[in-house]
Amino acid sequence: MGYLQRIAQLVGTALNWALDLLSPWVCPLCGSPTDDVLCEDCRGEIVPILHPLCPCCGLPYPRGVPEHLCRACKDKEYLFLRHRSFGIYEGKLRDAIQRLKYCGERSLVQPLGEMLLSAYRLMDAEADLVIPVPMSKGRLLERGFNQSLLLAHYLSRKTGMPLRGDLLVKVRETPPQASLTASQRRENLKGAFSVRDPGALKGKRVLPVDDVFTTGPTIREASKALLQAGAGEVLEVTVARSL
Ligand SMILES: [Zn+2]
Ligand SMILES: [Zn+2]
Repeated sequence: MGYLQRIAQLVGTALNWALDLLSPWVCPLCGSPTDDVLCEDCRGEIVPILHPLCPCCGLPYPRGVPEHLCRACKDKEYLFLRHRSFGIYEGKLRDAIQRLKYCGERSLVQPLGEMLLSAYRLMDAEADLVIPVPMSKGRLLERGFNQSLLLAHYLSRKTGMPLRGDLLVKVRETPPQASLTASQRRENLKGAFSVRDPGALKGKRVLPVDDVFTTGPTIREASKALLQAGAGEVLEVTVARSL
C-alpha cells in the first residue's frame, strides 16, 4: 500500500472514532440514557434471527427443525446466492425502521446499521461491492433521502467495502408494494430496475442493501437487472424481514 493511501486510511479511521465518540449517549428509540447504540430494554426487544434457518434465504424455522432449503428457494424464486436479515419486521424493530424511513430520524442509522453489519457477518460470505436498493426519482424527491443508501454507507464505512450508489437505478415509478397481492407485486416490479455502467460490476459479487425484505419481488427484479448486466453473484442483506 502506498504512503499516501496509508495516511488516508489512518485519517479515515480517526474520523470514524471521532464520529463514534460524538454519538449521543441516549437511546434513539426511547430516550433513556445508555452507553450503547440502543438501551438494554430496546435491545432486549429486538431479537436477532438465529439458527435454524433456510441456508439460502435465511427464513427462520422453529427451534428443533433441521436446517433445509425452504419452498421458495427450492422453487428458485430468488436469484440471489444468499440473503440474511438481522431480525423480524415487527415491534420495536419495525418502529425503528419506520421512524428512519418516514420521519427521517438519522440517529437510527447507527443502531440499524450495526444490525445490518451483524447480518452481513453472519452471512459468512464476502462481497466486492455494496449497492443500495434504489427508489424512483419521484419517491426520492418526495422523501428527500433513500434510507437504503444511508444504511449501505454505514456498512461500507465499517467494512471498507466500496459502495456504488449510482449503478442500480429504479427507472419506473411503482405503486406501493404493501397495497398489492403477491402476483400483482411481481407484475408491478417487472423491468423497474436498470443498471448504469455495467462494466463496473462485471464478474463482481455484489451486495444489494435494503431496509426490509418482504416477499421477494423487489430483490428478484433488482438481482435480475444486476445479473443481466454482468454481475457474477448477488448476495443481499436487509435489516429486517417480514414473515
Ligand atoms: Zn431504548
Ligand atoms: Zn429459503
